[in-house]
Amino acid sequence: MIQDITPHKLDNAFRNAEPRPTDKVFVFCEGKVLASIDEEGMELPDMSSIASLFEQVQKYAVYAFSVDDKPIFLMLQDGNADKELPAGMEYIELRKLNDAKEDWLAFAAVTASHLNHWYGEHRFCGSCGSRLELSDTERATVCPQCGNVQYPRISPVIMAAVTDGDRLLVTRYAGREYKGLALIAGFVEIGESLEGALEREVMEEVGLRVKDISYFGSQPWGFSDSVISGFFVKLDGKDNIYLDENELSEAVWLSRDEIPPQDSDISITAAMIEAFRKGVKV
Ligand SMILES: [Zn+2]
Repeated sequence: MIQDITPHKLDNAFRNAEPRPTDKVFVFCEGKVLASIDEEGMELPDMSSIASLFEQVQKYAVYAFSVDDKPIFLMLQDGNADKELPAGMEYIELRKLNDAKEDWLAFAAVTASHLNHWYGEHRFCGSCGSRLELSDTERATVCPQCGNVQYPRISPVIMAAVTDGDRLLVTRYAGREYKGLALIAGFVEIGESLEGALEREVMEEVGLRVKDISYFGSQPWGFSDSVISGFFVKLDGKDNIYLDENELSEAVWLSRDEIPPQDSDISITAAMIEAFRKGVKV
């Protein structure tokens, strides 16, 4: 999965660090990330090479996290799409970073994008409207007027692989760019347990009852500011599907040998489908 970057290590512990010219930095612009590209592939630019893009590059660089003890910063100001970029640099889609020189970069970029989204939405206090300040001691914003402290928001999502003997329920999303096989998934709502959210989502999306919930694993998924918890669950009762066409374009039962091998190991969706297809999960 995207977070499996061994032997590399992403250390997300907070540090109140100042950027040095050679430190790597994330610059986002309209959902894309700035990359430095040469014939060997792409990598992150360093602080010195983005200086021409910002008026006050030091002031708006915040420590994001470290990879293999190397600090990486995040620009709190979005890049300006109209500004001419230094030679060899380009804003690229996050999903294209799977081809980066460093195999940890895709996960690091999605995590930085999650942070960037959160910082961008926490410039002002939701309680009194004052401009928020960054905490010196932890990853948080602090209101100088009323003391309101905000931490990065992570929204829990459940994912359900519904099985019936040798069959797995697979779906395709309606109205999304991703057209591959999917599983039932949805955000946990206020006052719900993960199990309760799972039962509700399966009922809402395909009209099925389920039982025997077993935990598979989890995945941080900064694309949707979330952490996804994956479960295998068995059909309980009739297998007639009542499709929620707002969410899904298709939901079908596939037997193990009908399931195509997944061509990416990035997502927990693919990991769960593969686990069933290979008989690791029954
Ligand atoms: Zn306030």
